[in-house]
This record gives sequence, C-alpha cells and structure tokens, in this order.
Amino acid sequence: MTFRYIPVIGLEIHVQLSTATKIFCPCSTDYIGAEPNTNVCPVCLGLPGSLPVLNKRAVELGVRAGLALSCAIRNHTVFHRKNYFYPDLPKAYQISQYDLPLAEGGEIFIPGDDGRPRRIRITRLHLEEDAGKLVHSAADGRLEGAALSFVDYNRGGVPLAEIVSEPDITSPGEAREYVARIRQTVRYLGVSDGDMERGSLRVDANVSVKKTDETSGEVLYWGERTEIKNMNSLRAVERALQYEIRRQTAVLAGGGALERETRHWNDGEGVTTSMRSKEAANDYRYFPDPDIPPIVVTEELLESTRNALPELPWAKERRFAEEYGLPEADAAFMAESLPVALYFEECVAGGASPLRAANWIRTEVFRVMNEKGLSMDAFPVKPSALAELVALVDGGKLSTTVAREVFACLAEGRSLKDALETAGASPGGLSAEEVEQMVDQVLLANGDVVEEIRSGGDPKGKKIKFLAGLVMRKARGQADAAAVSGILERRLGEER
Ligand code: ADP
Ligand code: MG
Ligand code: ZN
Repeated sequence: MTFRYIPVIGLEIHVQLSTATKIFCPCSTDYIGAEPNTNVCPVCLGLPGSLPVLNKRAVELGVRAGLALSCAIRNHTVFHRKNYFYPDLPKAYQISQYDLPLAEGGEIFIPGDDGRPRRIRITRLHLEEDAGKLVHSAADGRLEGAALSFVDYNRGGVPLAEIVSEPDITSPGEAREYVARIRQTVRYLGVSDGDMERGSLRVDANVSVKKTDETSGEVLYWGERTEIKNMNSLRAVERALQYEIRRQTAVLAGGGALERETRHWNDGEGVTTSMRSKEAANDYRYFPDPDIPPIVVTEELLESTRNALPELPWAKERRFAEEYGLPEADAAFMAESLPVALYFEECVAGGASPLRAANWIRTEVFRVMNEKGLSMDAFPVKPSALAELVALVDGGKLSTTVAREVFACLAEGRSLKDALETAGASPGGLSAEEVEQMVDQVLLANGDVVEEIRSGGDPKGKKIKFLAGLVMRKARGQADAAAVSGILERRLGEER
C-alpha cells in the first residue's frame, strides 16, 4: 500500500480595525512609536471601578467586513470574558465574543493551486480587544533567555476583528492566497490597513496532515493539528506551513505521533519550534461580560452598510476583464489595490487604450514607484499625463523607446510638454519628405538586409520590422509608425 499525506489548513486572522480610539475607552489606537504606557486609561488598564463603553465605529467596521465576506450578521451579539492569566492582559481576561459572534457563515474565493477558483468557507468574524505588548530584554526579543520583561499597554484595548476560516485550505500556496485576499478586502473596505509587518494583520495557522491510501483515497490516520504563530508576511505564512507540513509528514511517516501544540515560526532559521502544549492551557471559563449590554445591530445599519460597500476586488477584476478586455492577470493586477484601480481607470478615461495603459502601469509606473519608494497616491505622473503619452504611442506618433524617456522626465515631476521637448520628441513633428529621407538612409546603410527581403528571405516580416525600428529610432519617435511601415513596404516592392 502506498500512502499520501494531505495537509488540512484553517486560518485565524486578526485584523486591527481602523478606528481612532480603542474599543472600550477613548484612548488613541496609535500605539506604534508612542512612549510606552502613554495611551492608557483606567478602562484599558483594567483598574477597579472603571466601565467599558463600546466603540460604535468598531461594530460598524465589523459589520462591513462581515457583509463583504458574505457572512450572516447577527442582530443580537454579545461580548464574553475570556479568562486567562498573562501579564499582557491587565484584567486577567480579554473581552471577546464566544457563542454569539457578530458575523458567521461566510465565504471567499481564491485561486487554487491549479488556477481554478476555490471556495474557502468563513466560520465566523468576531470583535475583541487586543492585549498589551511584552518586551523582553533578550537580543532576539524572545522570552527565552531574557533577564527582564517589560509590559506596554498602549496596544491593550485596540479593536480587532478575528476572522476564522473553516479547514478548507489544502496547501501553503492556497493559505497565502487566502491571506492576500482577506488583506486586500479589508483594505478595499477601509476596515484595516492590513499591514502584516506592523502587526495590524496577524495570522495564526492551524495545520494537520491526513495519512491516506494513495489508491482508494481512504483516510487511514489523521494527525493532531498544531497552531503556528509569528508569521509577519505572506511569504512567512507560506514558508512556515511548508516547513510544518514537512515536519508533520515526517513524524507520521516514521510511525510517530504528533502533539496538539502551539508553535513559533522562526523566520531567520526557517523552522517552527514548540511554544506550549494545548493540553496544559486553556480553560477560558467564558461568560457574558456583565458590564456590556448585548449589542443590537439594527436593520438600518445593515442596510446602510450594505449600500455603502465599495465594488469589491473580485467584482472589479471581473469588470476590468469584461469591460476593457484585459487578460485575467492584468485585470487582477489593476484591481490589486484601490489607488491602482483608480489610476488605471483615469488613464483609460483620458484616452489610453486599456491594454496599453495596463501594460505601462505594470511595468513603467511600478518600476519607478519601487525605485523611488513611492506609493500610488504620491506618484508624480498624473494619470491624465500618462493617458496622453500612451495615446501618442497608440496613434503611432511616438515610439515606445522615446515614450519611456518622456515618461522618465514626467516622473521627475516635469510637465508633458516639457518632457516631450527634453526627450527631443515632438509627436508627428516630421514632414513626409523628412521621413522618406530617413527611410532612404536606412535602406542605403542596410543593403544586405534589403537584398534578403527582396529575394523573399523575410516570410515573417521580421526583417522589415527591424528596418522600421531603425527608421523610428532615427526619427526619435517623431514619425508615425504605420506611415513608416507603409513607406518601407512600398519601397521594398512588397505587397503585404
Ligand atoms: P480553537 O478553539 O483551538 O482555536 P477552533 O475550532 O476554533 O479551535 O479552530 C481554529 C482553527 O483551526 C479554524 O480556523 C479551523 O478551521 C482550524 N482547524 C480545525 N480543525 C483543524 C484540523 N484538523 N486541521 C487544521 N486546522 C483545523
Ligand atoms: Mg485558536
Ligand atoms: Zn484606555
């Protein structure tokens, strides 16, 4: 009998909601770079006698995300106390949700490993408060080997939405796609900035491996699952899962057993290590928080939130493909973020052909953006200027090479007129005679190529294109490409 080991993956994603203040108090959520323990108050420090007041905006953002993920929104939702002792939690309990979460039963589609769409079910989305942050004095920042630990409560009480998936994910690549889709969605919605490096989107990955009979597919043994933490990028999610699946498979294949445990991803070494066993932990003794009344989500809020949902990424991708005829990959690229989508559509509205606009954005715009470390919003070339430039190329008035030079000038912050002059290009600025003369010069200088073409040595028209390219270069893009081809064909006596 031959065996096959099949991974099973379910993700829990915490996203920090983009509110100005914390979920149960008026403290600022701006904890990054702030002096430790300055954004705190009796409520988020859990001082006796203080009372939490729910931030309405956090509920609205949760509803927004829940609806976008096709969840059912509960009209009565309750906060529970999740009790555990750890110094990052001043109250010794976290206010979270338990059996009555804000949203349940959603779905999202991702590209599967075979390129076909795969449906990943969303179990639930619930709201909770973040914990404080422990800072350990060890060089690697970890608890092990640290002489001292400090605690900073600035992050305590920051609102989170936890999005839990069903174990529908079957590979590290799919897990990465899933996280990317969720991150893109919360960004589109303005629900979170989704920044994994800064910790505003955190992924816990649950993974187990099924041992199956290769031929019948029957599950012979299902290993215990582990939960991996501390992955700070999409790539880390993928690598950590690859490692962990390999490790679990090796244990099972060797006849060993796995332990239900939480493991830490060490990005530098590329391994997961055991943090704590699940057995020892976790009796959270959940009970409804008596200080927070049940939350009523009104029909009005649902209706207005639903109406205010933006066009979602997958809808935008479909529309870009259908309306503009973009290939799937281009459509996905143009819809990747809202600022890029906006830029692309403004370019098209300004008269550029969609395909060429997409091409320019993918290559030139992104190249310059990366080089200069700019965001789309801060990009110096206005879409209207790029549209004019692309239209010139579309109309054969400017060669791509010269257009790139013009674009480089635009990216320096110059006007289109200025940039055209600097690159020595005045579109279509050459007279017919001047172009004819240039053709003459090129034909004269390339007698061997001309001979070959005339004696039928250019069935695919590659050589004539080569000559056209030489003329265009000579003309610095100021000749009309179609006109140049026409002249060349006439002069070479070839009817095509
Ligand atoms: P816990 O209470 O330990 O967090 P949950 O039942 O809430 O456990 O599940 C947490 C996550 O684990 C979910 O994303 C779920 O899809 C995933 N999960 C559940 N069973 C498995 C399994 N056998 N293998 C991998 N992931 C799993
Ligand atoms: Mg869990
Ligand atoms: Zn506070």
